[in-house]
Amino acid sequence: MKKDAVFIYSEDQLNYSFSDTHPFNQKRIILTLDLLKKMQAITDEDIIRPRIATEEELLLAHDVKFIETVKKASKGELQENVGAIYGIGTEDTPIFPNMHEASALLVGGTLTAVDEVMNGRANYALNLGGGLHHGFHGKASGFCVYNDSSVAIKYLQQKYGARVLYIDTDAHHGDGVQWSFYDDPNVCTLSIHETGRYLFPGTGHITERGNGKGYGTSFNFPIDAFTEDESFLEVYRTSIKEVAEYFQPDVILTQNGADAHYFDPLTHLYGTMAIYNEIPRIAREIAEQYCEGRWIAVGGGGYDIWRVVPRAWAQIWLAMKKLPAPTGPLPADWLTSWQGESPVPLIPTWEDPDPLYEAIPRKKEITEKNAQMLNRALYIIRNEKINK
Ligand SMILES: [Zn+2]
Repeated sequence: MKKDAVFIYSEDQLNYSFSDTHPFNQKRIILTLDLLKKMQAITDEDIIRPRIATEEELLLAHDVKFIETVKKASKGELQENVGAIYGIGTEDTPIFPNMHEASALLVGGTLTAVDEVMNGRANYALNLGGGLHHGFHGKASGFCVYNDSSVAIKYLQQKYGARVLYIDTDAHHGDGVQWSFYDDPNVCTLSIHETGRYLFPGTGHITERGNGKGYGTSFNFPIDAFTEDESFLEVYRTSIKEVAEYFQPDVILTQNGADAHYFDPLTHLYGTMAIYNEIPRIAREIAEQYCEGRWIAVGGGGYDIWRVVPRAWAQIWLAMKKLPAPTGPLPADWLTSWQGESPVPLIPTWEDPDPLYEAIPRKKEITEKNAQMLNRALYIIRNEKINK
């Protein structure tokens, strides 16, 4: 029988770990899964173990020399000066033992998710271990070694002939995926992110619209620092609906970085749990409307792993199970299980404290600026409509 949704997970996903003090911490997956278990929203039958991507699969989106270099680093055989050319052994993306295997497993998880959905065993599949959107063809970057989404999109094209819409709501620009498909008219990338003015990786301007035959299939929505819920959601709802209608995808792949929240230590956006309740539910509507339901979701950034990520990521699974966003207290046994280990007091409810922060004097200006940006970023679509 076809399942609503499958959750791709094994403890080995936690082997993708740069160090104990690095902000990228996959413990967030355990915290999320435990939250779902303690609210009886997931059972063992819903969980599928990820496979490891083969070298042939990694080559779909990565350069052979880069893969060879990661393998050497993985075994501790890489000369220091060689790594830097490939973005590994840097402060952001340090070398760790068995990094090739750990990175290939995260890619394999997203491929497992793809096969579950495209073979019709599930409508939706979630791989929280994936979402490494900064990985480039020949270079690691920004905590990302191999780019699971780029490999998965190539795989979707080759194995299933699918037309893919990639939607990235991480607070950082989804640069690695964008550049991988920049001249491909059959893949549309859409990224909503904090403007690159002060934030890594600095790209994601509205004028990055694609190249050659791919012109018009790359969409960027850079929002201002301090953007709050309503303005974020206006950009999200409008852009995803108009782009899906324009591109007519066969399947959607969403990257669900949870670092646009006010608490996130690496970014300057002012989102609350309200955006994370809505992001996956609208994604599901879009998948139903255009793709006969086919929806694959991956994780991404998210650096407040205690107060933000588990509540935010739980919403993706709940949306896949067609459950409404819960309100009120979190399961008491989840709070007692983890409070001792958390360096900060956990938020005891699904909602954030109200107010979460002091009112921002520039709110009106930021909202207007984002609205103008949205209009300019959708220029191609809206202009086409006028011409038709
Ligand atoms: Zn991010």
